[in-house]
Amino acid sequence: MACTKFEYVKKFESFQSLLPNCYIVIRIDGHSFHRFTSIHNFKKPNDRRALDLANLAAMKVMEEFQDIRIAYGQSDEYSFVFDKNCKIYKRRESKLVSLITSLFTANYVFNWSKYFSAVELQYLPSFDSRAVIYPSLENLRDYMSWRCADCHINNLYNTIFWCLVQDESSPKTVSEAQDILKDTDSGMKNEMLFSKFGINYNNIEEIYKKGTVLYRKNELLTKSDSNISRVKSVIKMDHVDIINDKFWKENPEIFK
Ligand code: ATP
Ligand code: ATP
Ligand code: MG
Ligand code: MG
Ligand code: MG
Ligand code: MG
Repeated sequence: MACTKFEYVKKFESFQSLLPNCYIVIRIDGHSFHRFTSIHNFKKPNDRRALDLANLAAMKVMEEFQDIRIAYGQSDEYSFVFDKNCKIYKRRESKLVSLITSLFTANYVFNWSKYFSAVELQYLPSFDSRAVIYPSLENLRDYMSWRCADCHINNLYNTIFWCLVQDESSPKTVSEAQDILKDTDSGMKNEMLFSKFGINYNNIEEIYKKGTVLYRKNELLTKSDSNISRVKSVIKMDHVDIINDKFWKENPEIFK
């Protein structure tokens, strides 16, 4: 780079590097998606097309950034988890936050028409994002559990809420529905869903109740015409409980 008298201004830049030996989580979240989903007529409570689109965008991010070991998405958010020892961009926070967010956003827009073929984008979506570091696997798992529990709680609430609002025989206003649900616990919501709307919450699709987890897994590939097999790392997508130990016991190579 040419050396000029102006170059001293570079010294004003800050270099915030994320603590070593800690898991790095970058969480992005749709900006004002309450508005975005309403203007684009998303089906409520869950528009499957939007989840599929976000999952594809997240998959593209993981393909590009090999240091991401696992990602978790629900609603308008996605969390990307980097290996604790990764050295990417010297762990510079602004690089990671900005690159992940712009790559995800670009893929979300680029692939929009694959899922929303009949829906023209009225304006471009944007996503905010932050980096958080966790020093232990226990902390990281609690973080993932927190997002997964949030998915479940919001989905149960939104399912009954939209049943009340979209009830053909006696539709409720938004504030009436909020009022009805104000002091209900999850047992009461389940019961109301079943008795009033004939919906067994257990039978709702797992992707809505659990969210989506993308993770790296080693698979043994054997060519059909030979005995030679090799291990290949692939990205798997599941909609399973990530709070309990089962998922982590079955996938020890995520953080090997
Ligand atoms: P980094 O990720 O570190 O920024 P980089 O390859 O983007 O890597 P830059 O220093 O930002 O490195 O350089 C931008 C590159 O893009 C240069 O090679 C520059 O010549 C090229 N480039 C940028 N704009 C144009 C343009 N309008 N036409 C042709 N080439 C361009
Ligand atoms: P902020 O900019 O503060 O994040 P927001 O309006 O995006 O504001 P969130 O708490 O992120 O607020 O909520 C996301 C909104 O998008 C909720 O209203 C949620 O119901 C809606 N939403 C997200 N994904 C879907 C989906 N797949 N189908 C229907 N609605 C969705
Ligand atoms: Mg937000
Ligand atoms: Mg949002
Ligand atoms: Mg959100
Ligand atoms: Mg550049």
